[in-house]
Amino acid sequence: MSTDPALYPSERLAQVADAVRAADLDVLLLTPGPDLRYVTGYDAKQLERLTCLVVPARREAFLVVPALELKAAQASPAGALSLEIVTWEETGHPFGLIKKAVGDPREIALSDRMWALHALQFRDAFPGARQHLASTVLSPLRMRKSAAEIAALAAAGEAIDRVHANVPRWLKTGLTERQVGAKIAEAIIAEGHVQVDFVIVGSGPNAASPHHEVSDRVIQDGDVVVVDIGGTMPSGYCSDCTRTYAMGHAPDDFTKYYEVLHTAQEAATRSVRPGVTAESVDRAARELIADAGYGQWFIHRTGHGIGLESHEDPYIVAGNTIPLEAGMAFSIEPGIYPGPHGARIEDIVVCADPAATGSGVQLMNNAPRDLVIV
Ligand code: ZN
Ligand code: ZN
Ligand code: ZN
Repeated sequence: MSTDPALYPSERLAQVADAVRAADLDVLLLTPGPDLRYVTGYDAKQLERLTCLVVPARREAFLVVPALELKAAQASPAGALSLEIVTWEETGHPFGLIKKAVGDPREIALSDRMWALHALQFRDAFPGARQHLASTVLSPLRMRKSAAEIAALAAAGEAIDRVHANVPRWLKTGLTERQVGAKIAEAIIAEGHVQVDFVIVGSGPNAASPHHEVSDRVIQDGDVVVVDIGGTMPSGYCSDCTRTYAMGHAPDDFTKYYEVLHTAQEAATRSVRPGVTAESVDRAARELIADAGYGQWFIHRTGHGIGLESHEDPYIVAGNTIPLEAGMAFSIEPGIYPGPHGARIEDIVVCADPAATGSGVQLMNNAPRDLVIV
């Protein structure tokens, strides 16, 4: 499994250490998960045995791993960094080992996805310290994607587009959502992902439940089917794309609001460029849907950031006044769910520098957005 070395550049660790100092933190503690992978390239499993990257403000960073994980850590991109790897044996005390090295910190930051099993042991090891989320230092870095990260998201987008291109072959009346979902999950892997993150096949009334996954409901003629799928690529970067399908024909009232949704999704996409706020992109979709009379049925935010996690900063939601910058990646996925059916259209987009690319937005998904009648 080879990944582009530019995805996890060796200078990132020093950049993170600078951010730790700039935030007046004493130490950043990252257990396995997207934060650890972002900083070191090490895709470690989350286990009860402690693996932890320790980034102190005033000394060199080091990686603590259980002795039995040493070979895996060395084989990962972390092994190529100038990073000391400290092992602990089965009867050892990794929290004590870290405490000995970093002393008595006042301000510590823990990876957002750290298990309570470890967070509470860090609280006991450093009873005088205030705990912060690692995202206070990492989110501003992770939000601004490099060219290599954007290329990884584009590859993920192409892979999931290939799956959607084949969905009409698997969507058949008489099959259950679960049966169709199993075929789609297989295809997500076959098209290059290493992991299926989610498969939503919402048919008939289930199309009006945005986070319905699959059920044993049998797909019927005249159903609308919302298919929202995503996975993780070998690079670590995620895909996420929704298309809405209709079986045989679509109800008239549905066709009317699908066109409103289509227009709103396009308008929100066109509104993306550096300097506009995240909430203004939400507003671009929401105003059109509200003006057409469907505002009460658009019951979620317009989008979420994406990268090493399928939901991360920046969130495209009212109240988020962060100005978008070139390199920020997020979904644009308005939906209308009046029941007994519903619809959503979702693409991943990247805010771009118009001077460099000729447009303020790059699309990671390019499957057609018109309603597909199966
Ligand atoms: Zn999404
Ligand atoms: Zn989605
Ligand atoms: Zn259309």
